[in-house]
Amino acid sequence: MEFKDLKLNKPLVRTLVQKGYEQPTLVQEQVIPLVLEGKDVIASAQTGTGKTAAFALPILQNLYDRQDSSKRGRKVRVLVVSPTRELAIQIEENFKSYAESTVLRTAVVFGGTSIEPQKKLLDAGVDILIATPGRLLDLHKQEMVNLNFVETLVLDEADLMLDMGFIDDVKKIERLCPSEKQILLFSATMPHKVVQLAETILKNPEKVEVAPTSSVVKTVSQVLYYTPKPQKIELCLYLLRNTIKGNIIIFRRTKFGVDKLEKSLLKNGYKVDSIHGDKPQSERQDAMNRFKKGEVNILIATDVAARGLDIKDLDAVVNFDLPNIPETYVHRIGRTGRAGEIGTSYSLCSADEKPYLASIQKLINTHISVETEHPYPLDPKAKPEVHKKKGSKHRPGRKSEASKKKKKRWY
Ligand code: AMP
Repeated sequence: MEFKDLKLNKPLVRTLVQKGYEQPTLVQEQVIPLVLEGKDVIASAQTGTGKTAAFALPILQNLYDRQDSSKRGRKVRVLVVSPTRELAIQIEENFKSYAESTVLRTAVVFGGTSIEPQKKLLDAGVDILIATPGRLLDLHKQEMVNLNFVETLVLDEADLMLDMGFIDDVKKIERLCPSEKQILLFSATMPHKVVQLAETILKNPEKVEVAPTSSVVKTVSQVLYYTPKPQKIELCLYLLRNTIKGNIIIFRRTKFGVDKLEKSLLKNGYKVDSIHGDKPQSERQDAMNRFKKGEVNILIATDVAARGLDIKDLDAVVNFDLPNIPETYVHRIGRTGRAGEIGTSYSLCSADEKPYLASIQKLINTHISVETEHPYPLDPKAKPEVHKKKGSKHRPGRKSEASKKKKKRWY
């Protein structure tokens, strides 16, 4: 299938050709016609599948086709809600580049940075607004944004949005838009709460499912290293010296862990940057830009800070800590090996992470190959150091109520 078969108009197709897009991706093939028809859509697709263009292109075409109303002044007609600032910025960059051939104006608003310039942007008039939930509601409260003219509402990374506790904000935002509108919901995974949200706010949605979570990993070569927890830093340095080359993201579970590893790598002469939820927005953005420009080739990140980021030319992903949620492993390693290229993931597993490893291998239905030739092996008799509370059962991949409450603090 080609883009012109999807009934996209010529200027849009020309822009895509200039960008080197030869044909639509699977999610684009399925989602674009539905959005053009004005249908509500619930799509299970993750970053790397081309999902942003899957909604951005038909939205632009719809706006283009209905230009009459925009002549009456710029009003927010498309609202994209995204859970993280980085992702919001990225979505806007995508919209901007696809909208080159149009006069449509886009803007992005997010928290953690001064609200005044964002007010000015909105004041000047915007057709397509990309926003994180908190800042959007703030701006609405201050009467700086009018959502009465929204024709299409996109909820991107809905599972993450709900994980981050934005459910009430999302429902509120939906109610602030007119009841007659198109809603497009994208989610990497489809847990019950996402389905429930969709049932509440979407109208007869068309369902699209692309690449179930576990299949993405086929384009990634995966290697596992067993090592004692205290020696992970040594092993990581050893791998950086001898094995891992190119542009790398190293994932850690906690902000504290990210900072600690960053210090160690800097001390050892590596050019490193890091992103996590405690860093001011400007620092996170600078770090991303340096990494994208290739000024820095190692980025250390927590999952939430990094999720959804479209980072090109990634050669490797390092799981310094194994994630306790198996789907997170798939999200992490899915950032390498994009667009048909083969990438590599290196996972460091200590004795107490073996239960997490078991859950991951079950999800991906693959035994990750183990590399034993390294100087910091784990004693095969080492027992998992699982910290059990009296009466509590350790269940890898499941979060206790207490850990859910703590969530806001550790990423
Ligand atoms: P996304 O899943 O939206 O984060 O997109 C992942 C990457 O794929 C982005 O760098 C897009 O620019 C790129 N992309 C999207 N659609 C296509 C396409 N049809 N052909 C080639 N690259 C694409």
